[in-house]
Amino acid sequence: MESLLSLDQQTMFIVNALLLVVFAVAFSFAALGQKDRRYWAFLVASNLVFAIAFVIFSGQINGTPEALLLPNCLLVIGLGLRWRAIRTFFGHSSSSAWFLALSLAMALALSFSRVVGNGLVFGLTNAIIAAQIIAIMAVLALERERLPSRWGLVFAYGAVAASSLLRVVQGLLLDRGMDSLLPADIYLDLNLIAAAIHISASGAFSLSLAYERSVAGLRETALRDPLTGLYNRWSIQALPEICRRHGARQTAALVLLDIDHFKTVNDSYGHAAGDEAIKRCAELIRRTFRDDAFIARIGGEEFIVLLPGKDVQYAYRLAERLRKAIDAEPLIFQGHSIGLTASFGISHGAADSHSFPHLLERADMCLYRAKAAGRNRVEVDGRASAPNLIPQPIRSTTENPSRASA
Ligand code: GH3
Ligand code: MG
Ligand code: MG
Repeated sequence: MESLLSLDQQTMFIVNALLLVVFAVAFSFAALGQKDRRYWAFLVASNLVFAIAFVIFSGQINGTPEALLLPNCLLVIGLGLRWRAIRTFFGHSSSSAWFLALSLAMALALSFSRVVGNGLVFGLTNAIIAAQIIAIMAVLALERERLPSRWGLVFAYGAVAASSLLRVVQGLLLDRGMDSLLPADIYLDLNLIAAAIHISASGAFSLSLAYERSVAGLRETALRDPLTGLYNRWSIQALPEICRRHGARQTAALVLLDIDHFKTVNDSYGHAAGDEAIKRCAELIRRTFRDDAFIARIGGEEFIVLLPGKDVQYAYRLAERLRKAIDAEPLIFQGHSIGLTASFGISHGAADSHSFPHLLERADMCLYRAKAAGRNRVEVDGRASAPNLIPQPIRSTTENPSRASA
């Protein structure tokens, strides 16, 4: 069949090989100072293996099966390295054994072409390549991590998967009596164009995939409190968005808590003891509230828990449970038993970006009331609709730091 667009196929192979080398250099630069060096190492290796295969192919158009054995095996190995790169990127284990076995199968198939005919072998070898590409696409498509660039990669692999499948059909149905395992026909033109699209798109999207993850990582680090691992005060801006994700018009309960007489803990036992007390409270908050709660440390020993879609009764019940848990067990620090208590304020209402500051302000007023009323207690905003709210327990004041005993 005639060549399409009068492409010089030999030049196309060389141009594709050069593109592969350019991206291999770009990947090497991207790897500098990165943690996930193995991802980049597999990508660089795969690009170089493909480039060598393409240079050999460029001199073997209409070549013999023996001459095409090595570059075809290199394609299988290159795709295996790509698969390992993607698996490594998403933190999965991978091994080279299966694609080394596949390249052996490829070599065997090519050795039998003189016996069974070129068409069948051409179809089978391209089926091996298509299967590898589809396996890579499956890894990319099934990942849950929010990285939109992976869909660009799925497209890049889809282009070569389609052209490989077309070659399977060509070998098994359309052109069974082909003269060579690399015939200079229209299908080779399409394959070379698909390869050029794939190399450019997979190169660009591999880079942007890593960029997206590092930006997401930086954003996450910027919103985390290093002491407790909870969100920090800067994350408060993100809270209305979290509520919106749970339903645009939904209301939320907000629990604000502050450790009582915390300065005394610092003054009596040192800053390290204070840090331990903060970590203990953070752990108890995490344990008390479910995963759908948004927990942040917004001040030295002040925390908020946002409960989208939850009512006051729910927030009160859990806040009481948490208050008792903090009160129940003293912190043991360097042989000292340090009693801890905390005071709570709860508000409830709309939590969109406009209303959220007001919600926080009301919870803060409740917290102030809890402190004024003797500490170690939970106060609920009077305006919150809480028809069946459990009455506040009348407690004796137990927050006095003099409980802390050496
Ligand atoms: P109250 O019962 O009224 O809340 O009294 P308080 O002593 O807890 O008062 P306050 O909330 O003003 O105390 C906060 C103290 O927390 C002051 C500051 O030294 C300390 N602090 C702030 N950040 C940290 C931290 O990261 N680690 C430690 N150990 N202390 C901190
Ligand atoms: Mg305090
Ligand atoms: Mg405070």
